[in-house]
Amino acid sequence: MGARIVVLGAGFGGLELATILSERLGDDANVTLIDEGEAFVFGYSKLDVMFGRVTPAEIRLPYGAFAKPGVRLLRETITAIDPESRRVTTDAGVHEADVLVVALGADYDFEATPGLADANEFYSVDGAERLRDLLPTFTGGRAIVGVCGAPFKCPPAPSEAALLLHDYLSERGIRDDCEISLVMPFSTPVPPSPGTSAALLDAFAEREIEFVPGRRVSSLDPDRKVAVLDDRTELPYDLFLGVPRHRAPQVVLASGLVEDGYVPVESRTLRTRFPGVYAVGDVATVGVPKAGVFSEGAARIVAESLVAQDGRQPPGYEGKGSCYVEFGAGRIGRVDVDFLSGPEPTGTFQEPSRELVVEKQEFGASRRARWFDR
Ligand SMILES: Cc1cc2nc3c(=O)[nH]c(=O)nc-3n(C[C@H](O)[C@H](O)[C@H](O)COP(=O)(O)OP(=O)(O)OC[C@H]3O[C@@H](n4cnc5c(N)ncnc54)[C@H](O)[C@@H]3O)c2cc1C
Repeated sequence: MGARIVVLGAGFGGLELATILSERLGDDANVTLIDEGEAFVFGYSKLDVMFGRVTPAEIRLPYGAFAKPGVRLLRETITAIDPESRRVTTDAGVHEADVLVVALGADYDFEATPGLADANEFYSVDGAERLRDLLPTFTGGRAIVGVCGAPFKCPPAPSEAALLLHDYLSERGIRDDCEISLVMPFSTPVPPSPGTSAALLDAFAEREIEFVPGRRVSSLDPDRKVAVLDDRTELPYDLFLGVPRHRAPQVVLASGLVEDGYVPVESRTLRTRFPGVYAVGDVATVGVPKAGVFSEGAARIVAESLVAQDGRQPPGYEGKGSCYVEFGAGRIGRVDVDFLSGPEPTGTFQEPSRELVVEKQEFGASRRARWFDR
């Protein structure tokens, strides 16, 4: 048996890491993968749930279907992490690790935005489901897609939500009775890619979606139906679609691994300052956005370095990835970003097309097949 590898969190990062180690080491992998959830869900599926394209049951990929040689997937809640001794406590017992990989993602901090708990968000499956039921009752007035803080997962997602909301209201024949505003803490929709930002700003202008840059929603007054921005501007709303503030999961915050909100790592190797402890994905500060493709890419580097023979380490993590961007009207664009290999992040934009709709479907299908044999 090789080193005991304990992977915390079976999201994009944890699933990919465990899959590679199983492929490379087979029954000798000795991986324990721990997650408290019942199923994996692609982040972008929440938009599909909100607009009624799919049901929550259809998007869940149950962990019971993840069966890989050399990997035990345990359904347990992690209650403590000691990075010094690499000991993990869960509601079911204690796990000792030779190598510990923290891939616990980012949680939502609803309390950080007063009033948000009484408004609506679309970043969780439950929130998206509530909005799916609420949207048909909206008959006119101002809708705000509002981001409550940065960093947040998948920077293009609020722009996608605004564009898809436009389609939804148009299909119902009430778009002329509605205004849509998008509040975003960045100066452009996708800062590392001027091409993507320009295309999104054009799409907003064509559809009369108001873009409010450089601002975040700091509180909501659901009685007065007003969103208060961080410069104290008040925006009245009839419908609020929120992106909650994010933070590292509580168990990570309490572990001593965190600085400035997330787990700092050496970007090239994903190592933390504790020997034998790595962090990948949304839980870490790597210098890349919080998105599944980056969690996956980081997981690959950790896996390669764990299986490396004769001290031959893989090349460093380059922070490259492609994100699909829904433009509405059945078209999807793509942004190919590179965060770490050059002096500045760069992003190349692929125009929205129907071909990219098929490519995004293939992206999901390939992960379903790879991780869940479906
Ligand atoms: C609306 C929306 C659209 C998105 N669109 C895209 C997209 O198009 N492309 C893209 O790449 N990304 C997209 N994302 C982002 C993507 O979903 C996340 O960035 C990605 O899931 C992060 O992967 P991860 O492995 O770091 O963490 P996660 O996938 O969040 O996994 C973390 C896991 O840890 C588990 N966990 C947490 N705490 C505990 C605990 N105490 N005990 C046990 N288990 C625990 C959780 O149950 C979870 O399964 C989108 C996100 C949203 C919300």
